Amino acid sequence: MVIADPMPKSTQNLANDKRMVLYIQANIHAGEVEGKEASLMFARDLLSGTKKEVLKNLIILICPNFNPDGNEAISVNNRTHQNGPKNGVGVRYNGQMLDINRDGIKLETPEMNGLLKNVFLKWDPQVTVDCHTTNGSYHEEPVTFSWMMNVAGDRSLTKYMEKQMMPDVAAILRDQYKVENCFYGEFLDMKNPEKGWEEYASEPRYMTNYIGVRNRLAILNENYVYADYKSRVLGCYALLQSITDYCASHTNEIKQLINESDKKTVARGLNPSPVDSFPIEYIGKPIQEKVTIKTYEVDEVTNANGEKSYKKTDRKKTVTVPYIATYEATKSVKFPFAYLVTISDPLVINLMQRHGIQVNKLNKSQNLDVLSFKITDLQADKHLNQGHFTQTITGNWEPQHKEFKAGTFVIRTAQPLANLAAYMLEPQTNDGLLTWNFMDRYLLPQWGKGFNAYPVYKIIDATEINDTVIPLQ
Ligand SMILES: [Zn+2]
Repeated sequence: MVIADPMPKSTQNLANDKRMVLYIQANIHAGEVEGKEASLMFARDLLSGTKKEVLKNLIILICPNFNPDGNEAISVNNRTHQNGPKNGVGVRYNGQMLDINRDGIKLETPEMNGLLKNVFLKWDPQVTVDCHTTNGSYHEEPVTFSWMMNVAGDRSLTKYMEKQMMPDVAAILRDQYKVENCFYGEFLDMKNPEKGWEEYASEPRYMTNYIGVRNRLAILNENYVYADYKSRVLGCYALLQSITDYCASHTNEIKQLINESDKKTVARGLNPSPVDSFPIEYIGKPIQEKVTIKTYEVDEVTNANGEKSYKKTDRKKTVTVPYIATYEATKSVKFPFAYLVTISDPLVINLMQRHGIQVNKLNKSQNLDVLSFKITDLQADKHLNQGHFTQTITGNWEPQHKEFKAGTFVIRTAQPLANLAAYMLEPQTNDGLLTWNFMDRYLLPQWGKGFNAYPVYKIIDATEINDTVIPLQ
């Protein structure tokens, strides 16, 4: 649904529209159903006029059921630990048995491809909300939420969420809509909740983190699985209202923040400085403010097989604890002027383009000073993950002077999606093309020992390149 008043004539001119675009998405995990109901209620109330005021400043897009095949599998046997609805819910995975909320980089699901084509590359929402239900820790608050966590997105955006927008939305939700809430997380140790509360998912394969790496704002809504169904739906509805109220009263601020982060990203790529780096390893640290969680004490129980787990008691316990929700780089590599991709692989190039990344190609052969990644080790994970034995690579970037043939693909980093492009092309990130096996066939010689050169090279300093943009297929 696109809800706007007036409706924009096309998406071509959105840059000149004074409104901002808010995208609400629900049911990506089709057992986690509150958002499906709450977003439809919200659409009804926007259209019937009781919430119409916000449409002066917002264009609102709503997808109430992002996982239709998962939703069609409704059964009372799904998510039996969840407190309703009593007629059952759908399943987590989509029709391909894939978790759409792990598909942020590899784009193997039609749902993610549709989202990019029809929402992100057309409407480019400044703010996205993705609605889920929790699975883990026990607490009283029916609504929890967090924001994009990945370290590769523009830091001014994650800081804005941490220090301003998210605390303000929490206050609106609590004070105006009377819904108890806390930031989303899990206890590091359920038995000793004082140790801290953690937002553990940081890779861009997750929807909200992916959007952060695109330099846009995203909110992960997780409603508390053990709260009754009605409280969860109404809580989610109130959160959508709180976010909408905030966006409607901070429209210019949000648009300006995002424009600046795009400009900054493009400017860095035009002439990378020696201090420009790209994170390939990072760790979670506590944010400045502690969080208060109304939790319950747990008892340790042992089942017939001798396995230990924790059981919630009725003994309430309120804790104010560190919230691990800011990620910081522990290892970085040089951020380049451009990446060169020497394999002629339509899967790779088409994938980059489907994300909206601009890909060029060399018009004629050119000798260039580059860094080449020399592989020393390659390890596939022992466990299948989304149909993949994900890869981890070890090696070093080494200088090389090399001829690149006409037709070599060039990804310049002077583009708004440079952080995403780097995440995909750097071999050592935890969620790139290498991770998801797009590079597997190129890494080993068929006979003999050792490894081939990694087929992505980096030009570090601003350089004259004779290239042309490849139009979208
Ligand atoms: Zn979920």
